[in-house]
Amino acid sequence: MSCAIVWFRGDLRLADNPALSAACAEHSQVLPLYIHSPQEAAPWRPGAASRWWLHHSLAALNERFHAKGGSLHIRHGDALSVLRQLAQATRAEAVYWNRQYEPAAIARDTRIKEALRLEGIHVHSKPGNLWREPWQVATKVGEPYRVFTPFWRSLRTDLDGSPPLPVAQAAQWLRLDGGLPLSALELLPRIRWDTGFGQLWKPGESGANELLEVFCDDALSSYAKARDLPARHGTSRLSPHLHFGEITPRQIRAALLRHADRRDSRNRPDPEPYLRELGWREFAHHLLYHFPTSTQEDFNPNFAGLRWAEIGEDQLARWQSGRTGVPLVDAGMRELWHTGWMHNRVRMVAASFLTKNLRVHWQSGARWFWDTLVDADLANNTLGWQWVAGTGADAAPYFRIFNPVTQSQKFDPDGVYLRRWLPELADVPTRVLHEPWADPACLRRTGYPSPMVDLAASRQAALAAYSELRRVREVPD
Ligand SMILES: Cc1cc2nc3c(=O)[nH]c(=O)nc-3n(C[C@H](O)[C@H](O)[C@H](O)COP(=O)(O)OP(=O)(O)OC[C@H]3O[C@@H](n4cnc5c(N)ncnc54)[C@H](O)[C@@H]3O)c2cc1C
Repeated sequence: MSCAIVWFRGDLRLADNPALSAACAEHSQVLPLYIHSPQEAAPWRPGAASRWWLHHSLAALNERFHAKGGSLHIRHGDALSVLRQLAQATRAEAVYWNRQYEPAAIARDTRIKEALRLEGIHVHSKPGNLWREPWQVATKVGEPYRVFTPFWRSLRTDLDGSPPLPVAQAAQWLRLDGGLPLSALELLPRIRWDTGFGQLWKPGESGANELLEVFCDDALSSYAKARDLPARHGTSRLSPHLHFGEITPRQIRAALLRHADRRDSRNRPDPEPYLRELGWREFAHHLLYHFPTSTQEDFNPNFAGLRWAEIGEDQLARWQSGRTGVPLVDAGMRELWHTGWMHNRVRMVAASFLTKNLRVHWQSGARWFWDTLVDADLANNTLGWQWVAGTGADAAPYFRIFNPVTQSQKFDPDGVYLRRWLPELADVPTRVLHEPWADPACLRRTGYPSPMVDLAASRQAALAAYSELRRVREVPD
C-alpha cells in the first residue's frame, strides 16, 4: 500500500486537478490536506472577503470528499512542519500539489520541496490553474512579455487544448484523526457584514460549474457588448471561483466550445472575446511571476518620482464607503462592500478617481480591494491597479483619466446601476442622476454629498503633476 498526501491550496476542486489525479493514479491511499498558514502569504495575507469565500469553499470541498467516502484533513500552522508530521504519521512516500505563482508561495514551496526531498519524500508539483506556465510563454529572444497583445497572440496559438481531467477517485481515501474542524480556522467575520454575500455567491466547485452553465446559456453570445454594462449580468462572475481554483481555464474553454458546437452556425456564439479576458488573467500571472516586486513597486520606474497626495483617513474613508459624491464611483464602492465584487468597468472608474482625481497612491486602493474583494488576486489586482494608475506594464497612458460622468452616461445611460446601489438617488431624474451637483436642490433634498473634489480641476492637477514628472524624468507620451 503506498500513500500520498495531496496538499490543497489555490485549487479547491476534484475535477481537472493534475496533482490529485496523479496522486490517485500512482498511490493506493491518498490523504487530502488543507493547511491554514496565512502568515506564509505575508505581506498579502488573505483579506476579510477572501477568508469568507475560503471558509465556504473548504466546506464545499469537504462535502465533495464526504460524498466519495473521504474527508478533507484540515490543519493550522507552519506548512513544512505539518507536512513532515503527517508524512511520518501516514508513512507517505510523496506529496503532491498544484503550483501557485505569488512570490511568497514560490519561496515557500521551493523551501518545502528541498526539505522534503532531503528527507526522502518525493514532491510532485503540477501545473494546474493556467493555460500555460508563466515561463512557457516568451518573446523570440526568450524574454518575458511586457505588452498584452503580443503575449496573447503567442499564447492564443498555443492554448492547452487537452481535455480537462475527470473527477479524481483514489483507491482509498485516507481518513486521519487529529484534524481541525473548519470553524477552528475562524475565517468568518465576528461582526456579520457578510449577509449580502451568501445571497449572491455559491463558493465551491459545483457553484462554479453552475455559474459557467448560466453564463454560456444567457450571456456568452452578447458578452462582447454587454461586458461593459454594469447594470447587466453580462459577465461571468467566475473570478472568485477562478482565484480559488474551483474551476480551470481549460474547463471553461472546453465548456465554451461545447456550447458553441451545440448551436447552429448562424447562432453560434463567438468565444474569442471571453477567452481574451482569460488571456489578461494569464498575462497578469506572467507579469507577477517574472516581475515579483511589481506588487509594491511601480512597474515603470520613472513613476517613482510622481508626487502622490497625502489625504486624511476620513477622506480615504469617503472613497471606501462610497460617499465621494460622484455617483458611478459611489455605486461601485457600495457594490463592492455589499457583494465583495465590483463590475470591471466600474473598478476602472473607481480606481482612476482614487489615483488621478484624488492622486492617492495606487497601493492604498489595491490594499482596500485586497481586503474587500471575494476575487482578490495578487496578479490581477496588481495589474488592474497599475494599469489604471498608468504606472504598469502595458498600462493606460497616465493622461487618460476616466471621466466618471461620461462613463456613467455611456455605460449606464438609464441609471439602472446607479439607482440600484444609491437608493437615495432612486427618484432623481436621469438627466441629473449622473452629476447631481448640477442641481443643488437635488443634493439638499436627497442628502447625497457634494463631490469631494472638482472633477475638472483635479484632472488638471493630475496632468500638471504628470508634466512635472516628465520634465524631470524621461516618461514616454
Ligand atoms: C483596479 C482593478 C483591480 C482588479 N482586481 C482584480 C482582482 O483582485 N481579482 C480579479 O480576478 N480581477 C481583478 N480585476 C480584473 C477584473 O475587473 C475582474 O477579473 C472581473 O471584473 C471579474 O468579473 P468576471 O469574472 O465577471 O469577469 P469576466 O468578464 O467574466 O472575465 C472572465 C475572467 O477573465 C479574467 N479577467 C477579466 N478581466 C481581467 C483583467 N482586466 N485582468 C485580469 N483578469 C481578468 C478574470 O479571471 C475573470 O473572471 C481588477 C481590475 C481592476 C481595474
